[in-house]
Amino acid sequence: MSKIKRNTLLYKTGVEYGDYTINHVLGCSHGCTYPCYAFMMARRFGRVKDYQDWLKPRLVENSIELLRKEIPRKQKSIKSVHLCFTTDPFMYGHPEVIEMSLEIIRLLDHYGIKCTALTKGVLPLELAKFDKMHEWGISLVSFDEGFRKQYEPFSADYPARLASIKKLNDLGCKTWVSMEPYPTPNIVQQDLKELLSKVSFTNKIIFGRLHYNKLVSAFPGYQGFYNDAVKTVIDFCNDFDIAYHIKARTFRENE
Ligand code: SF4
Repeated sequence: MSKIKRNTLLYKTGVEYGDYTINHVLGCSHGCTYPCYAFMMARRFGRVKDYQDWLKPRLVENSIELLRKEIPRKQKSIKSVHLCFTTDPFMYGHPEVIEMSLEIIRLLDHYGIKCTALTKGVLPLELAKFDKMHEWGISLVSFDEGFRKQYEPFSADYPARLASIKKLNDLGCKTWVSMEPYPTPNIVQQDLKELLSKVSFTNKIIFGRLHYNKLVSAFPGYQGFYNDAVKTVIDFCNDFDIAYHIKARTFRENE
């Protein structure tokens, strides 16, 4: 795997449910085609040339060295650190990325800083050894393999993802599921309630619509579809005592 160096790694994020974040890889081999916002930004700002370039992850080799300096300096102002917003910390088929992510989590754990991680890979079992304040999550917007092959082509398959989060949940870890970007029925026909029922054990669900995809606006009454979906998620979470967060611009009144 190629390596790069950075000057800083720990920064405050403007993302709705994030505080600080660490992105210790440039690119992501999962190659999501919804499209992936991180890829669009990386291409726009010249960090990658094109999609093929994005698929070749580059590890920030001086990550631990940087974080050993940055974490103690910012420790007091950090509520939590999210891995990752512009790549995947447990990139499927890339043990170097997984090892580095675990090393970073070890460091955050050592400083008593809460870490939240999100993946379309498989959550490693080692995560159960860390403090139970952390939150381990998977991204799950479908259970349709055809959808995955088209929109998340090089990610872990859904049963593997689900089995990994369930295992950690059973071991007493806090878990969460990101159902974002949730697709409209003209992209994939599926039953949201059935999907939710597969993750009824989790502690938190994040739900959000799909953006930047013309198929969404081509679906007649798509806003009504998202409004109904939001109600379904909220009802489900209330029934199962699951915390939830609905992403901005997913629900719109009067539509
Ligand atoms: S896993 Fe996340 S960062 Fe990677 S390609 Fe998919 S959406 Fe982008």
